[in-house]
Amino acid sequence: MVNDEFKAYAEEAIIHTYNRFPVAFDHGEGVYLYDTEGKKYLDFGAGIAVNALGYHVEAYNDALKAQIDKLMHISNLYYTEPMADAAHKLVKASGLERVFFTNSGTEAIEGAIKVARKYAFKKDGCTDHEIIAMEHSFHGRSLGALSVTGNFHYREAFQPGIGNIVFANYNDLEDVKSKINEKTCAIIFETVQGEGGIYPAQKEFIQEIRRICDEKDILLILDEVQCGMGRTGKMFAYQHYGILPDVMTSAKALGCGVPVGAFVVGKKAEEALEPGDHGSTYGGNPFVTAAVSKVFDLFESENILNNVNEVAPYLDQKLQELVDKYDVVKETRGLGLMRGLEFNVPVGGYVSKALEKGLVLISAGTNIIRFVPPLVITKDHVDEMIEILEDVLKG
Ligand SMILES: *Cc1c(COP(=O)(O)O)cnc(C)c1O
Repeated sequence: MVNDEFKAYAEEAIIHTYNRFPVAFDHGEGVYLYDTEGKKYLDFGAGIAVNALGYHVEAYNDALKAQIDKLMHISNLYYTEPMADAAHKLVKASGLERVFFTNSGTEAIEGAIKVARKYAFKKDGCTDHEIIAMEHSFHGRSLGALSVTGNFHYREAFQPGIGNIVFANYNDLEDVKSKINEKTCAIIFETVQGEGGIYPAQKEFIQEIRRICDEKDILLILDEVQCGMGRTGKMFAYQHYGILPDVMTSAKALGCGVPVGAFVVGKKAEEALEPGDHGSTYGGNPFVTAAVSKVFDLFESENILNNVNEVAPYLDQKLQELVDKYDVVKETRGLGLMRGLEFNVPVGGYVSKALEKGLVLISAGTNIIRFVPPLVITKDHVDEMIEILEDVLKG
């Protein structure tokens, strides 16, 4: 934990947009983190679902070091091998057609929105198309991504947003249907809502929306920034439902630590964007795409999906036992290693206590603890986590 002097030093120079926990992390090893004072922590947050492979992964680090010595950056005016390779691997893993690399999840959402508007514009030349987004969704903090984020508290002071966004209730088919009209160009949602409280899409909801989108030539945009990249036990969460989106956004674990995102388009929208329509100076530079490429290789060689599918049911079972045992714990839900534990009370105090006891947890909303550990955890790590968490719950 950090002392007051260091805390004051940091706060003095950083805009106060986060209430940070009083800890400064220094390095990691496997699924453990160490702070600047050498204290060890078991990590069930993974830098908000980013560090899927855990820490100090030699093969990953070596690939990045090698790329640093060759070429960090060259701009999108030229080809690079790392970008072409990473794009092919992402296309193969997603079942979609083409990739645009961004620097974050937010920018991936911006790109997806532009694809939808351009696709509709090319059809009728109009500029008044609508996008349906979901209540309690989270898509990022830039003005475009914020405009489709279903949390008025985040949006209020920054109005007006991009306009022509209509909100519907997640997993409420009738509500979504009632908001579709001839101006609707896209429907966007997270395949598993993350910030909103770990709610997986219901099968009937997502499949019926897919059908309606096909029927009415509306683009289905699925945000896989948090739930993608193996977290739910499939490479992308929509693969649980036997459907494909028209546009998919990825980030977080895509680079396992380097700032990279992507929007990936399927057959229908693959030619919506044309030269001059979109760009990024850094987007997909050789350094970050060398990381992406290595991440896909390691997911295969380390059998990451198998591990998720083996450990996730055990985590679910252990969390269910907490629901049965403690009155303050209400329910557990999720998919794979993306799980929520909902309490009848705010969880902030529990999260802080856990951190003091050497367990990194994160919340989603006020009443939910979110479990998004590195995807390489074992059942023993689950036991270790539960032991500390029970300690905290017993006060
Ligand atoms: C984190 C997140 C984003 C935003 O990604 P950034 O990399 O923080 O810009 C968008 N959508 C979802 C579902 C997320 O969890």
